[in-house]
Amino acid sequence: MAGGWAKDGAVSEQIEASIGDELARLKARRQPVGESFTHCAECEEPIPEARRKAVPGVKLCVDCVSERDARVQQRGGINRRASKDSQLK
Ligand SMILES: [Zn+2]
Repeated sequence: MAGGWAKDGAVSEQIEASIGDELARLKARRQPVGESFTHCAECEEPIPEARRKAVPGVKLCVDCVSERDARVQQRGGINRRASKDSQLK
C-alpha cells in the first residue's frame, strides 16, 4: 500500500544516502585516529601490544578506559535510578 508521503524508491534512496554519510564520517574519523598509543594518554602506563592491535587508535589503558566508562555509566545511571525509585514509590 502506498503511504502517499513518499515513494518506496525515495525512502530507500534516503536510507542509502544516510548509510553513505555514516561510512564517510567513520572513514574520516578513523584516519586521524589511526595510530595506537604505546602509552596511556592519561596515566602513561604502557598499553599492551595485544590491546593496541585489538583496539585501533587506542589512547588509554584498560584501567583508564574502565574508569571513564564507570564515570559515564554513573552519569547515565542517575536518571535510570531516579525513574526506578519513582516506580517503587
Ligand atoms: Zn591509563
